[in-house]
Amino acid sequence: MNGHPTPDVDLAIVNGRVYTPEGFADASVGIRDGRIAYVGDPATAPPARDTVDADGALVVPGLIDLHTHVYLGSARLGVNPDKTAARSGVTTWVDAGTSGAGTFEGLLLHVRDRSRARVVPFLNMSYIGLAPAGMLTREVGELWDPAFADLRAVLRAAEEFPGEIKGIKVRASSNALGDNAPVVLPQAREAADELQVPLMIHIGMAPPTLPEVLPYLRAGDLLTHCFHPHAGGRIIGSDGRVRPEVRDAVARGVLLDVGHGVASMSHRVTQQALDEGLLPDSLSSDLHAENVGGPVKSMLTVMEMFLALGMPLEEVLDRSTRRPAAAISRPDLGRLEPGATGDVAVLALEPTDRWKQDSTGVRIQLTQRFVHRLTVVGGEILAPFDDGRNEFRSSPWLSKFGATEDDDH
Ligand SMILES: [Zn+2]
Repeated sequence: MNGHPTPDVDLAIVNGRVYTPEGFADASVGIRDGRIAYVGDPATAPPARDTVDADGALVVPGLIDLHTHVYLGSARLGVNPDKTAARSGVTTWVDAGTSGAGTFEGLLLHVRDRSRARVVPFLNMSYIGLAPAGMLTREVGELWDPAFADLRAVLRAAEEFPGEIKGIKVRASSNALGDNAPVVLPQAREAADELQVPLMIHIGMAPPTLPEVLPYLRAGDLLTHCFHPHAGGRIIGSDGRVRPEVRDAVARGVLLDVGHGVASMSHRVTQQALDEGLLPDSLSSDLHAENVGGPVKSMLTVMEMFLALGMPLEEVLDRSTRRPAAAISRPDLGRLEPGATGDVAVLALEPTDRWKQDSTGVRIQLTQRFVHRLTVVGGEILAPFDDGRNEFRSSPWLSKFGATEDDDH
């Protein structure tokens, strides 16, 4: 280290296969004062206060899940970010618009500030956020009444909580906004521009159609549920190939986010995109109360799916760490090198012959599975715990889409 004496570290992770920006290395990782202090030759590693033996497992940056719902106790969808972080290695949770301007402060006070895992809030364009999403006897979308898309309320929240809104989220599918896209999407665009944050647009069943949505997305914005199977909003056109409008969007810097979820994943659409060289930028889960018990359980399931579809391990990890970190402008996250934030996941990779089913009932056989060993947030080990709360809430979606619960995590 440039001839300077090597400092001691608080925590060392040894005997792991470390995923660094330069690739895999048999290295030791040292963390001091919440930051990565050493990645390198075990022979010259600094002495550590505490040492964890990774026993040959992968040592990777703390995973970053760009599409989750962690507003527990407010929206019925919410799951406890720490609880899943501790069993999966996901250390950064982007809450994808569970809160709207009317409920945003609660997400900061009751969830973000009380969680050890990092919670990064994207604000829903609907004032009421996702409180009603799929929850009432009669379906009521959060923007079926366009009055809930209130740009003034969003800007007021941004003024009241400066710098706290890290993105704008809007669900652009008929179940969320009916036929109000022409009223809602321009306001969402303006909100993201005013706040200078990414715009995340969910796609699904039309209206609006995908070609009606894409013009609202610019470089650095996110198209989530990018591989969903529903009519009108699918990235695959009637000729069975990726639509040219999607290629144009990607060429101008729009990012593709998986947002697996319950109803939003088609293995066939995904395989077609991969076959044509169209890769997702982030392998997010859309984890929420109705899929945390299965079929999603955690982002590891999404990563295993991409391994089974032929994506190399390095690419799977890059799209679960460095790339999502860049999407939220957090270059201190998602990489293991001195100076970076001390978020680490230790994961063993084991062969498996289990099957995974998508939203359309299509099954694929998995090849490898991730077995979680350790989660470290800001240099501190986050041990698995039981908060006594069963957060899995069954939903008609599960049986409707034939989802199963045969996963291990
Ligand atoms: Zn979602």
